[in-house]
Amino acid sequence: MIVVQKYGGTSVADTDRIRRVAERVERAARAGDRVVVVVSAMGQMTDRLVQQANELSPEPPGRELDMLLTAGERISMSLLAMAIHARGLTARSLTGSQAGIITDAVHGRARILDITPGRITEALQGGHVAIVAGFQGVSRESKDVTTLGRGGSDTTAVALAAALAAPVCEIYTDVDGVYTADPRLVSSARRLREVSHEEMLELAACGAKVLQVRSVEYARNHGVDIHVRSSFSWQDGTWVRKASTMEHPIISGVAHDTGEGKLVIRRVPDKPGVAAQIFTAFADANINVDMIVQNVGDDGTTDISCTLPSAEGPRALHLLEHVSSEIGAQQVSFDEQIAKVSLVGAGMKTHPGVAAAMFRALSDAGVNIEMISTSTIRISVVVRRSDVEAAVNAVHEHFGLGGESNPFGESVARQ
Ligand code: ADP
Ligand code: ASP
Ligand code: MG
Repeated sequence: MIVVQKYGGTSVADTDRIRRVAERVERAARAGDRVVVVVSAMGQMTDRLVQQANELSPEPPGRELDMLLTAGERISMSLLAMAIHARGLTARSLTGSQAGIITDAVHGRARILDITPGRITEALQGGHVAIVAGFQGVSRESKDVTTLGRGGSDTTAVALAAALAAPVCEIYTDVDGVYTADPRLVSSARRLREVSHEEMLELAACGAKVLQVRSVEYARNHGVDIHVRSSFSWQDGTWVRKASTMEHPIISGVAHDTGEGKLVIRRVPDKPGVAAQIFTAFADANINVDMIVQNVGDDGTTDISCTLPSAEGPRALHLLEHVSSEIGAQQVSFDEQIAKVSLVGAGMKTHPGVAAAMFRALSDAGVNIEMISTSTIRISVVVRRSDVEAAVNAVHEHFGLGGESNPFGESVARQ
């Protein structure tokens, strides 16, 4: 059987931990499995490399930034190969390009177009462990090295599990599964035994960074089961798979995201074509807009607000300087001090009153709601960033999601 295991940054943070990963890989290999390992860069290395790039250039060229960041994963893959050799097994480390991960040419968030895993199967057939550098590929067009977006090693692992028809993709991380809320923020958060692809997709899209959103999308589209578990224990974690027909709780969890800011465009003419013009400018610049709210018009003008990644704030403001004179907007501002809090659950579809209960919980906690958006299985609100912990805990508690305290305990939860 082919087993795909992915180890995140904390799991390979130093040589001791890499040695422990090698032990786990050995265990699977000696049990007769053919093992494909996907690794992230060690610890905070990617953050450090991004910082160094920014010290040298306010807008580093995408090609060069990708070249730089992919180096992090190359270090961990080769060190792990050495650790495996030291245990008497053989391993072949492969970059994303060597592993046949073919992407489009969008640097920094390339999409996988195809996988040609010939060198992986060759390595497995030769009796070696195959180790693949996560989060990277090669552009079909330009042949340049690309990266799949932050957290993208999850997507590498899922895509390889699909391409190699592995029965499961194991994601080893620093928490033993998917919880009802980020266990670092909510001390009573409870581990979920199982969660559907749809719900996990919403949780991940709303900030539960335990899985990259694209990895879940890929898993859903290709029918891959994901097992999220701890690299520090042998305990079963959380299964992310097709929704079972079993009775499910109405709510799966609460997610939060502090990576977005709120753009407000005041007093634009209330007439056809204005929103189209603004959001076309963002789309053309590849800026991903999330929630959008337009107020009721007054005096022939209206306000439009939207949320978008904080990192894109300056670029969005710059773009609007041009567009706003054309459309006649009177003021544009960007507020980074916000957070998005989302409640996710497939049972919402058939249970009325969930939104009302969420808003009640927030009001009881004294948290003001600035924006609201919903999907069939999600309700999201924008609140002040300073309220995020209170908001997540209030909603989590109101819906009775908690259990016994989680492994991070009080101290970490308060950090
Ligand atoms: P890795 O480096 O292994 O990829 P990440 O840091 O990307 O790990 O993701 C794991 C982290 O995700 C956890 O440490 C936890 O703080 C965070 N997280 C956020 N929401 C959740 C959730 N609902 N369940 C579990 N972990 C979550
Ligand atoms: N090292 C990359 C990051 O920090 C990819 C990953 O860890 O999945 O985003
Ligand atoms: Mg991650």
